[in-house]
Amino acid sequence: MTRSYEYVCPECENTVERDFRVPSIVRSCENDCGFDHYIRTDLLEKVEAVPEEDRPDEWDEMDNEKKVYVALKEGVLSLPDLQ
Ligand SMILES: [Zn+2]
Repeated sequence: MTRSYEYVCPECENTVERDFRVPSIVRSCENDCGFDHYIRTDLLEKVEAVPEEDRPDEWDEMDNEKKVYVALKEGVLSLPDLQ
């Protein structure tokens, strides 16, 4: 049995599945979002677990990769999560 991992478009939340596990994949989104970093959905869920008081003021404007970085800094994510 092969596992698959789900990745989500940061712009339109379109998802794709791949059978490999990486933090993000760069692909051209079929919904005209252009080239985007699709982020693994379980990473994104953890990123959303960053408590509001630990989020920078510009959180809502930050792209997902920056949010991943904040989550790492806050200890919500750890390096093994990124593998
Ligand atoms: Zn998209």
